[in-house]
Amino acid sequence: MRRVFVSLGIVVVVLGLAGAALLGRLSPPALLTPPTRGAVFDNVTVVEPGLSRWEGRRVVVEGSRIASITAAAPGSTPQGFLLPGLIDMHVHGADDSIDGQADLFRLLYLAHGVTTVRNTGGWQVQLEERDRIARGDIAGPRIFACGGLIDGEPPVWSFSTTLEDPEGADALVAAHVAAGFDCLKVYERLKPSVLAALVAAAHAHSLTVVGHVPQRVRFENAGIDDIQHLRGLARSDGREPILDPAENLHLRLSEWAGLSSERIDFAVRTSIEQGVAQTPTLVLFDRVARMDRPDALIAAPDMQLLPRFYGELTWEPRGSPWYDDLPPGTWELAREAFANAKRLVYALFRAGVRIHAGTDIGNPYLVPGASLQEELTHFVDAGLTPEQAWMTATLWSGESLGLKDLGRIVSGAPADLLLFAADPTLDLAALSSLQAVVADGRLYSRATLDAAVETAVGHYRGALYDRVSMAIGERRRAAVLAAAREEATR
Ligand SMILES: [Zn+2]
Repeated sequence: MRRVFVSLGIVVVVLGLAGAALLGRLSPPALLTPPTRGAVFDNVTVVEPGLSRWEGRRVVVEGSRIASITAAAPGSTPQGFLLPGLIDMHVHGADDSIDGQADLFRLLYLAHGVTTVRNTGGWQVQLEERDRIARGDIAGPRIFACGGLIDGEPPVWSFSTTLEDPEGADALVAAHVAAGFDCLKVYERLKPSVLAALVAAAHAHSLTVVGHVPQRVRFENAGIDDIQHLRGLARSDGREPILDPAENLHLRLSEWAGLSSERIDFAVRTSIEQGVAQTPTLVLFDRVARMDRPDALIAAPDMQLLPRFYGELTWEPRGSPWYDDLPPGTWELAREAFANAKRLVYALFRAGVRIHAGTDIGNPYLVPGASLQEELTHFVDAGLTPEQAWMTATLWSGESLGLKDLGRIVSGAPADLLLFAADPTLDLAALSSLQAVVADGRLYSRATLDAAVETAVGHYRGALYDRVSMAIGERRRAAVLAAAREEATR
């Protein structure tokens, strides 16, 4: 009898060791180690998009700040163009459920020059991540965090916090402040009275309100400081939420496809009068407009930086009821919607509305860092100059986040800097000439970032990780689709 126990014990130990070894192999290798702070750029052209351009500068970083900007030594060789780090004003955290890609997401932001992100809806874990990055325990962009989505009943996403009674707004906002969040994210199905109470409570605590104009609320009555995805600008009335996702998407795209010049004028006028900022996320409009060709989205070069299950399982629309039940003509509407969103962005910008660059990372076929660079190209397609597009993602976003001189290159500013061989404010193609990134005073060379990306892709696209994550992804997808179908037939 005792012998059986002993051999059972051995089996358990062996299995445990094998499991631990497998987990070890699935865990990502160390990608980037934060270096000590400090950097010197000897003879650079300092470009502050929308403000100024100074040739022959010497820029010194000490600790987490820009310590000095002086004339370069005479006769020294020009090194390139120094710009403020890019800011993505709308991201969500990585899906951590298959042993974590949060490290990959952080790396991809830095590798593409994104040194600050605003997390517009996530979990408590983003505060820990923010603090660990700030301490230099892990490498990544500076994080501003809005906490979880706040929605009405029934919420669009099951993980939201719901609030149906305006009386609860104060306590909810106070809890956000106590936890250390920087902003509040409001969502689609809030009642007008609850939204008004949340906005009042947030403003009493000096918190920025970020979000979607809820469906029951008219844009001009929302009071949201920073509207995401231009959501709510295309329709003129409030209405009861439409619970069926396919029906809801079709109606929203119809409203966008039918956007009139009068409505554009009204949206511009109201944004100006109320001092509302807009984070359009045109890259998200682009993805919806191409969602009828998922194979092309999966094959996009940037997508090869992510594990395969994102494109082929997590984000695959075919087979899901919200996609399969869409009426014919939906995708033509989506393409008109995208064109009209760009018209609106240009009208808003020309009138002086504060535009932010954001992406909605976490949503289908968006890639950390790469999609923010792409957002700049959509702004240029909309009519902005490359320098104006850069200004939205540096100066304007930095000012809106409220950290003094974030997004600027002046003495005393937070040291978030990018060195380019060619000037990307003249031509966005020069984004690919990125040579070095300084994030919160820590310098990463192009070679360091490239090597880390290569290691990451080798791991996440390697045979072992790929096989295990695809198997887990298949099961998860089957469960999600079964639940969606059950919901649809109810
Ligand atoms: Zn979002």
